[in-house]
Amino acid sequence: MSRIYRCLGCLEHTVSRGFDTSHLSVTCQSCGSFERFVNEAVFEQFRAFEESPPASLEWSKLEREEKLLISEEVARRGRSIEDFSVDGRSTETAETAETAESYSSH
Ligand SMILES: [Zn+2]
Repeated sequence: MSRIYRCLGCLEHTVSRGFDTSHLSVTCQSCGSFERFVNEAVFEQFRAFEESPPASLEWSKLEREEKLLISEEVARRGRSIEDFSVDGRSTETAETAETAESYSSH
């Protein structure tokens, strides 16, 4: 099943790949620069948050990079937006918790 990836440089150009990953880096045929292309599912989540910012954090104050990271967690890992604190950096804590969890179950 192929996936769509969108250029973060121009947000216009998309490429299709036969694998599913969060993002990839290729030279964009539209803006001509070597750009990061983000999974369309992540980008759609990002756009949804842009249109209606989540109440649990100060979305508009986040860097785009942080927004994309959160969007990725929500869109691809099934995380809830409530898992993220106001500064959007609770991802680290959450990952540590996950690691501890899988540790004890083995
Ligand atoms: Zn581009």
